[in-house]
Amino acid sequence: MQRSLHSPKSSHTMERLPGVLLFFLAIFFSTTQAYEPLINHHIHLLRPQSGAGGSSVPGLSCLSWRLAVEVGNIINWKTVPAQCGSYVGHYMLGHQYRKDSKLITDVAWLYAKSLNLKKDGKNVWVFDIDETTLSNLPYFARQGFGTKAFNITAFNEWVLEGRAPALPESLQLYKKLLKLGVKVVFITGREEDQRSVTITNLRNVGYRTWEKLVLKGSAYSGKTSYEFKSAERAKLEKSGFRIIGNMGDQWSDILGASAGNRTFKLPDPLYYVS
Ligand SMILES: [Mg+2]
Repeated sequence: MQRSLHSPKSSHTMERLPGVLLFFLAIFFSTTQAYEPLINHHIHLLRPQSGAGGSSVPGLSCLSWRLAVEVGNIINWKTVPAQCGSYVGHYMLGHQYRKDSKLITDVAWLYAKSLNLKKDGKNVWVFDIDETTLSNLPYFARQGFGTKAFNITAFNEWVLEGRAPALPESLQLYKKLLKLGVKVVFITGREEDQRSVTITNLRNVGYRTWEKLVLKGSAYSGKTSYEFKSAERAKLEKSGFRIIGNMGDQWSDILGASAGNRTFKLPDPLYYVS
C-alpha cells in the first residue's frame, strides 16, 4: 500500500514546532541585542548590496564613488577605480541600472504629458545617443566596465559595427513623445563620418524618425562636448524650436546654453565626457 507523503511527517513537525520556534526566537533576540550598538553606528552596513545588483561592496566605497560621479561631484575622471570594476559590472548588468533609467524616463514622461503644448510643430526633445538612446554595454562589458583606459580606436570599431542595442527605457519615452507630437533631435558627440552607421543602428533598434541628427562636425574639433552641444542647442532655438526637454547620460549633455525647459540625467558610471 502506498504511504501518504504528508500526513505522518506533518503531524510530527507540528509537535516539534513550538520548541523550534522558541529556539529561533531566543537566538533572534540575543543576536539583536548583541548587535544593536553596532547597527546604530554602522547603519549602512545593514544594506551592503543596495544598488549593486547583488555584488558585495566592502565598505560601500564603490557606491559612494558612483553617487559622487552621478551628481557631478567627481569630474574629469579617466577610468573607473580598479576595485569598482566588478561593482560597476553588477550595477550595469543587474536590475538597478534599468530601474534607475526607468524612474528617470517615467519622470520625464510625466513632465512631458503635463505640458499644454502648442501644436505648431516647434516643440522638440533633445536626446544624446551613446548611453542615452543607444547602449554600448556590450562593448564596455569586454573592456572591464570602464576600468581600462578609453580606447578611441577600439570604441570606433565597435560603433562602426552598428550593433548597439537601444536603451529600452529611452526607446519607450521616444515613442511616447512622438505620439504626443513632440519632435526629436539627436545631438551626439559621434563624428560626421559615423553618420550613416548611426542612422542604420538607430533605425534597426526602433528609432525610425527624427527632426535632426546633429553629429560633431570638423568645425568643433578640439571643442568639448559641452561647447559643441550648447552651440547646437542655441542654433535650434534660434531657428524657432522650443527645447521642452533634454536628456543625456553626461552633465555636458544637459548644462550650458539653451539647456532646455527641463533636463534629465541618465546614469552612466562607465566614462566621463567634458
Ligand atoms: Mg552619451
